[in-house]
Amino acid sequence: MSKVKVKRLKLKEPFVSICRIIGIICVAIFVLFLFYRFEILSVSRLGYSEDASKSILFKFKKKYVKSVPYTKTLNAAFESDDYNEKYLSKYSGIDYYKDKKLIKAINILLDKKYSTNEINLILSRGSIDDAILFSKKDKIVYLEEYLEYDFARIRLFDQYVDYGNDTGSTTYDTVVYVNLGINNPEYTNPTIVDKFDKNMLVNKHFKLEKDFKVPDLVKIDKKFTDEDNIMMNKEAYEQYIKMSDDLEKNGLGIYITTAYRSYDEQKELCDYFKKLYGDEYVKKFVAQPGFSEHQTGLAIDIASVRKNTFASSKEYKWMIKNAYKYGYILRYKKEYQEETGFKSEAWHYRYVGVDIAKDIHNKEMSYEEYYATKIFK
Ligand code: ZN
Repeated sequence: MSKVKVKRLKLKEPFVSICRIIGIICVAIFVLFLFYRFEILSVSRLGYSEDASKSILFKFKKKYVKSVPYTKTLNAAFESDDYNEKYLSKYSGIDYYKDKKLIKAINILLDKKYSTNEINLILSRGSIDDAILFSKKDKIVYLEEYLEYDFARIRLFDQYVDYGNDTGSTTYDTVVYVNLGINNPEYTNPTIVDKFDKNMLVNKHFKLEKDFKVPDLVKIDKKFTDEDNIMMNKEAYEQYIKMSDDLEKNGLGIYITTAYRSYDEQKELCDYFKKLYGDEYVKKFVAQPGFSEHQTGLAIDIASVRKNTFASSKEYKWMIKNAYKYGYILRYKKEYQEETGFKSEAWHYRYVGVDIAKDIHNKEMSYEEYYATKIFK
């Protein structure tokens, strides 16, 4: 009996020790895992994402991140495959933008020896792709010369330099004019406008395509116009009615002579005037198809019910004082001719919404300048 027992024990021993070893390994792995989770937790508590925290531990940078304040850019650097150890101390000082190529762009700009302040300036004046393209140029020493304006765009930097050198304009005028494409001849290299917005710009440098659609085109009631079947944007029309009513309360009266004009209608108009007065006249006074503000459905030409010359009417004076309260601005003034590309037109009004109209009224600037400095992206 006892012999058998001994034999059984002998059989059991290796099995038990294997189990023991496996057990110890399991416990060790579990303890290591707990430790690892604890370490991730201690890093992510600082604000870092799970991926960034893992990367921080993997790169042995826990001590470093504990010594500096958390920033989104540093987090992005640890999350990114573009992380570069050499620039670790720089990432924190650079502003964050949500873009997968942010760290790549920062690295290239740092390679070009731009300071963190300069990089922040570059990144704030365009997209990350623009910044990457910009970084391919030779290093620019006087960045602030044009980029000090928050409406300057790095993708246009070379054009600012060329236009500034060619014309000797102030840096402000240079940035405004280049943003507006005025450094190109009229109707040349226009910006294509494809999105309707009451703040949109259409002129000899900002073009609408033939198939551009104006939303909410409504027919203008016969009460407000001498034309049959003319249309305009609904919001602009509703505001026009309020304005017209208030004019009437003051014993005055206006009516609409032109509102929405399609691309094809503008083409017909151009051809008509070409036959009558020739190319030069049309070039000066009639917008080419796609370049007329009337194609937006937001522009109207108006007339006084009592006087033939609108510019000398009481209605004109009332409009100059009050139109902005209804969201309308006088679009082509004599003093803005260089920016608008049009001579003074006392009758041409444009709906831009009450907020912008008020702002322009207070600032006394052309819509072109307003657009170039406040809306242009
Ligand atoms: Zn007009």
